[in-house]
Amino acid sequence: MEVKGIMIVMKFGGTSVGDFERIKNVASIIKSNLNENPVIVVSALGGVTDNLISIANLSLTEDEVRAIFNKIIEKHHTTIEKLNIDEKIIQEDINRLNELVNKIITVKKTTSQDMDLLMSFGERMSSKILASYLSAIGIKALPYNAYDIGMITNSNFGNADILPYTYQKLKKNLSSVINKGVVPVITGFIGKSKDGSITTLGRGGSDYTASIIGAAMGASEIQIWTDVDGILTADPKIVKTAKSIDVVSYEEASELALSGAKVLHPKTILPAIEKNIPVRILNTFNPSHKGTLVLNRTAEKSRVVSITYKKHIVVISLSNRSMLKNELLKAASGVLSSNGIFEYSISASESSVSITIDEKEHTPALISDLKKIGNVESSINGVKVSIVGNDISFIPKISDLISSSLKGIKIEIMPSSESNINHSIVVTERQANSAVKRLHTAFFS
Ligand code: ADP
Ligand code: ASP
Ligand code: MG
Repeated sequence: MEVKGIMIVMKFGGTSVGDFERIKNVASIIKSNLNENPVIVVSALGGVTDNLISIANLSLTEDEVRAIFNKIIEKHHTTIEKLNIDEKIIQEDINRLNELVNKIITVKKTTSQDMDLLMSFGERMSSKILASYLSAIGIKALPYNAYDIGMITNSNFGNADILPYTYQKLKKNLSSVINKGVVPVITGFIGKSKDGSITTLGRGGSDYTASIIGAAMGASEIQIWTDVDGILTADPKIVKTAKSIDVVSYEEASELALSGAKVLHPKTILPAIEKNIPVRILNTFNPSHKGTLVLNRTAEKSRVVSITYKKHIVVISLSNRSMLKNELLKAASGVLSSNGIFEYSISASESSVSITIDEKEHTPALISDLKKIGNVESSINGVKVSIVGNDISFIPKISDLISSSLKGIKIEIMPSSESNINHSIVVTERQANSAVKRLHTAFFS
């Protein structure tokens, strides 16, 4: 079944549904887009996912855990009360969450499967609240758990990915909802494995839910509504003067997201590329701003798009004097992929390579495999700061510009000139903000 006419996906992030006033604001944005058949994807109310995760913090006392649970419930009840909707809509979820909290308190341990179940409650409740408020103001809307309409994933808890038939299922189920004139309000972030366990798509995963749904439906646009005016030249929490960028290519946006720009979940762009759907990043706090459009285009030559950073990075140095540079690179890349690590950067000098990976991927198994190739040294917990753009090696005097702007900052790894879309350095946590600010000044003022 096809949707009659065009449709768009609108995803609203946590801060955008942080309290009753923000939810009213989101409802008015949805109301003004009803003629485009919007499918809504929603995150948990701001801060709720973090609160849910802390329920599983085993160093807390039972009273502390119950206090967090109560805080979560109170936040939802206050929101519901202020929106003047029926509080019964979330009662079932509260009961289930309460059972899980009791189990965690008694058993005093959590599996990755329990963690995903725990984290799922935020979106399960927010979708019901938003749908109910939309109905209350006269919009025909219904809440859906993504897994009930086809979001089926593998069992990689904490970072699950969809199974191929998800697209077909979502399309079939959602088309019939939309054709009845209903606005579906779908949980971001969560899915279910084939055996029926709830899974999550990784922190910030509601963006990915939106693009999966957009690709499944052949949407005319995937809108990511957040709390800033689109993709900026740096994180505005660090660089106050960061500017919004009008248009970026899929490749640039992907690289930004992979390099830590939190504004997009790293996988968001992939489904959009597959179906050539434009992604627009917009601000619920400033809805008339045109934001950033991400689309299939040849990127502008030699431009820096943004300075990004990624925390909790480990640098591994691997050396073997009897191997050629290319052999060493090939062997190291082989070990990374056989350990299931695909998000990394690697740069080489004559007899050693430097690998930067996320702290979470720094496992004993990886180190033992690398030791079979050569000498291994790791330095832990740095911040990778990246200059992301297009054809950046062709920017005149780029290396001089980078080194002069970073004078006095201790650099663990210098940029390798092998990538034309990303030059990265690794610095200590203490100097990271300063590195971001200085590079931003060097490239954008
Ligand atoms: P949401 O809850 O809407 O998903 P996120 O907090 O996940 O929002 O992402 C938006 C945040 O991303 C912004 O508030 C900003 O601090 C951060 N951010 C980091 N880098 C960038 C960047 N280059 N451009 C825009 N925002 C960025
Ligand atoms: N609520 C989830 C998180 O905080 C997913 C999201 O917001 O995109 O990670
Ligand atoms: Mg996000």
